Amino acid sequence: MRDDVKQLLSLQESDQLIGNLEAELLKIPQLQEAAKDQLASDTSALAQAKSDFQANEVEIKKLELDIGTRKNSADRLKNQQFETKKNEEYTKLGEEVTRYEQQIDELETRELELMEIADERREKMSEAEAALTKTKDAVDQDIAELETRANQKKEELSAAQKTRADKLADILDDELIDTYTRLFNKRNGQAVVQVTDQKSCKSCHVQVTPATYALAQSGAAIAHCDNCGAILFP
Ligand SMILES: [Zn+2]
Repeated sequence: MRDDVKQLLSLQESDQLIGNLEAELLKIPQLQEAAKDQLASDTSALAQAKSDFQANEVEIKKLELDIGTRKNSADRLKNQQFETKKNEEYTKLGEEVTRYEQQIDELETRELELMEIADERREKMSEAEAALTKTKDAVDQDIAELETRANQKKEELSAAQKTRADKLADILDDELIDTYTRLFNKRNGQAVVQVTDQKSCKSCHVQVTPATYALAQSGAAIAHCDNCGAILFP
């Protein structure tokens, strides 16, 4: 392989590495955001579970007040009934007491139902709390690991950039560097590629002419793929 092509190939390795590191570094903040989104969703699930529980508690309080009021009324009527001398009034008061007691029965049944609901919602609340704690720990850990990874990649990137600068400084042909750079950008990082024994260019996978193949083999001059222009080595 020609020395200048060897140098370009090595430069390309650095450029590919830099490209990969930059792509990874771009992804890390997105991964951190995704982790935070999970936390936000668990936080709002817990808030919802708490508010459902509270709403039920308010219902229970209201029922208890209703029951208390009706019990007072029933007691008052029972006293009136006890004090009355009139048969007709006695019966009428008795009927009213029975009506209140039926209502109290219904309200107490409803209260029991609400208390069962309270148990279920308390359970849901503690499940949501546990899930949030678990997610929070996992997310904290994920974010810390991603931070560490980002720092590592940044170090690797700056080392790769330094190596690349050294390699570039060794290549004295500016025109060749321009050609390489243009090809690297156009060919998606595949500027300097092998031409296979089947005469196929590894950048575009099209067969080159026998003359181009022979030139790449001999190294008398820099050989370019007839189709995509990539710099070829044997
Ligand atoms: Zn090609």
